[in-house]
Amino acid sequence: MAKELTKNEAKYRAEKLRGLLNKYSYEYHVLDRPSVSDAVYDSLNNELKEIEKAYPELIAPDSPTQRVGGKPLKKFVKVRHSERMLSFNDAFSREDMEDWNERNMKLLFTRRSLGVGGPVGAKVDFYTELKLDGLAVSMIYENGVLKIGATRGDGMIGEDVTHNLKTIETIPLALLPKEEVFENLKKAKLHHVINHLKKLWPKIIEARGEVFLNTKDFEALNKDQEKKGLALYANPRNVAAGSIRQLDPKITAFRHLDSFAYILTTDMGQKTHEEEHLILKALGFKTNPNNKKVDGLEEVFKERDYWEKHRDKLPFEIDGIVVNVNSEEYQKRLGVVGKAPRGGIAYKFSAKEAETIVEDIIVQVGRTGVLTPVAILKPVLIGGVTISRATLHNEDEIKRLGLKIGDTVIVGRAGDVIPDIVKVLKELRTGREKEFHFPKEFCGQKVVRSDGEAAHKVSYPEKCELVNRRRLYHFASKAVFNMNGVGPKIIDALLDNNLISDAADLFSLKEGDLLPLERFAEKSAQNVIASIQQSKAVNLYKFIFALGIKNVGEETAIDIGKNFIKNKTVKNPQDILDIAEKITLDDWQKISDIGPKVAESIFEYFNNKDNIAFLKKLDKLDIKIISPKIAAKTQKLKDKIFVLTGGLAILTREQAKDRIRELGGNVSSSVSVAVDFVVAGSDPGEKYDKAKKLGVKILTEKEFLKLIT
Ligand code: NAD
Repeated sequence: MAKELTKNEAKYRAEKLRGLLNKYSYEYHVLDRPSVSDAVYDSLNNELKEIEKAYPELIAPDSPTQRVGGKPLKKFVKVRHSERMLSFNDAFSREDMEDWNERNMKLLFTRRSLGVGGPVGAKVDFYTELKLDGLAVSMIYENGVLKIGATRGDGMIGEDVTHNLKTIETIPLALLPKEEVFENLKKAKLHHVINHLKKLWPKIIEARGEVFLNTKDFEALNKDQEKKGLALYANPRNVAAGSIRQLDPKITAFRHLDSFAYILTTDMGQKTHEEEHLILKALGFKTNPNNKKVDGLEEVFKERDYWEKHRDKLPFEIDGIVVNVNSEEYQKRLGVVGKAPRGGIAYKFSAKEAETIVEDIIVQVGRTGVLTPVAILKPVLIGGVTISRATLHNEDEIKRLGLKIGDTVIVGRAGDVIPDIVKVLKELRTGREKEFHFPKEFCGQKVVRSDGEAAHKVSYPEKCELVNRRRLYHFASKAVFNMNGVGPKIIDALLDNNLISDAADLFSLKEGDLLPLERFAEKSAQNVIASIQQSKAVNLYKFIFALGIKNVGEETAIDIGKNFIKNKTVKNPQDILDIAEKITLDDWQKISDIGPKVAESIFEYFNNKDNIAFLKKLDKLDIKIISPKIAAKTQKLKDKIFVLTGGLAILTREQAKDRIRELGGNVSSSVSVAVDFVVAGSDPGEKYDKAKKLGVKILTEKEFLKLIT
């Protein structure tokens, strides 16, 4: 982003970003009450860093890129740290890590003063650690007894929280007796450390580590808050920070904090970062067993990817891994720049939210003629995928967000996949942002918004070419006729070449029709035709959903279908026409779950002559309808509501949905307290988090399979 800005624009933007980041940082570090997620903070901070890299003269002393954490609170006695407590620079991708490594290699091996030829073939080991989302503390032991416990504060000066740290069971009040430490070091084969300590056992030993709250304790705390009608805590990190900075240690003790030690600032003869951990363990500290020495960057990538997948299995939250050059000597030689050591880096997991700019707002039409405003975004990486569009739903949503074209926004991936604008960062406006107005005309027709409706629509959807295209995409899609390989691009090509005029025409296509089209070879044409022919036998509910009846979604299509097969098995489109002919508007309205407006749309659909002709055409093309059996005995999931999230390994999503419905259950797309089960596959995302928060029962795919068989 930075490169495209003129110097003046960059200066303006940097000032605004600094102001906003300093505000967020204060809320987070001092008040323990963040108003945005870490991912958002990181992405804004990253943009500022990019600007400062492009224009180093813009680096200001108050830039958050130059400072560590927050200010110590006045209510505590201040502690000056013997050595600055640092932060880390962040890496968000493999490229960032490769750049970091390359810089280090150059510094370590190509400096003329070192008399070494070049980095060719040079390699360093790394030590990877889980990056816990907690609070860094310093623990100073005098003659083996905990004397001072302090927070990091601004890196130089922290707060004396000794009395509170003493309530944490995993922080030793006294280090283990020397003999025991020697015994432990012997087991760890650290003989050089033993020799070192036999010569000189330091009077003062300082360890640093993380104080944190385990997820279970965090959830219990929030449940308790909810019961008392109090505000919920944003995340375990802020609870840990808030608990440590209590004047009354009883409150701290009540929170059941945990800790891991990860730095030994005192020289005890350690030669590597790994040894530092082993010594800390030998002294009686709790160290994280998942930390490990790895050989080269490829191994680092593997560790990070492994933990991104398995982080949910840990009893605490992590937001990435910390990677350190293992050798202490190299660490020293690399030194510190700004607020972070060069030899260490925080390699973060994919963000679920990020900031970006809305470059334009366009309007798209759906298969029912509804117009949806869509934000065109400056491409941004979220959850490992580049995103360039986000739905804005409707005019009211744009008003609610207060969004203008040119705004900086926070984008998240709602419901796991669909990108969504979460918030507008109005603080970053330049004054050049433009208001968005809905078009008055679309498809050569008037755009209308009826009273009480949120959506704008074209007046005559059936006369809008774009709407018909959408209907065709829907008809062929996975959720409906499931014509493998017949996506929007192919449908567009078929329409543009006048090979089809409606969905029924798809079934009469022949191989030769496709060959003249771009991208079609004999084999692919054969495959497409075969998959169209295969889809000719279709489930009744899907068939009804395919028709694109106004106001009829997947669930209503099922209600209609169930009503059709009450008295007669439906085998083909003509059967549907025969049954529908006899159902009056009044009858439709009497069916539970079908509201008056929906009933009207259904009635109108089956009494429109074009639609009747379309169904007759499908019937002539030999479409076979499979009527599901409604067996009362197998309704073991009757009225249970399921939400599916993440990737399933054994069933496809459609198969899982079908099975739930066969057993009398319902499928919903959003998590609420009304939901009975959330089935979580791999990489489940936000729905999983929400279910956890609301206490909705979460099933693994295996558990789900057990339930449905
Ligand atoms: P950092 O979190 O990027 O890295 C340093 C910290 O990592 C250490 O101080 C320590 O507490 C922790 N850590 C965890 N495991 C560790 C390990 N194994 N070894 C060493 N350290 C380990 O930097 P930071 O300066 O603490 O703060 C930046 C963090 O705070 C970012 O994650 C940022 O998103 C967040 N933040 C959020 C907001 C907000 O409004 N949401 C505002 C400011 C900062």
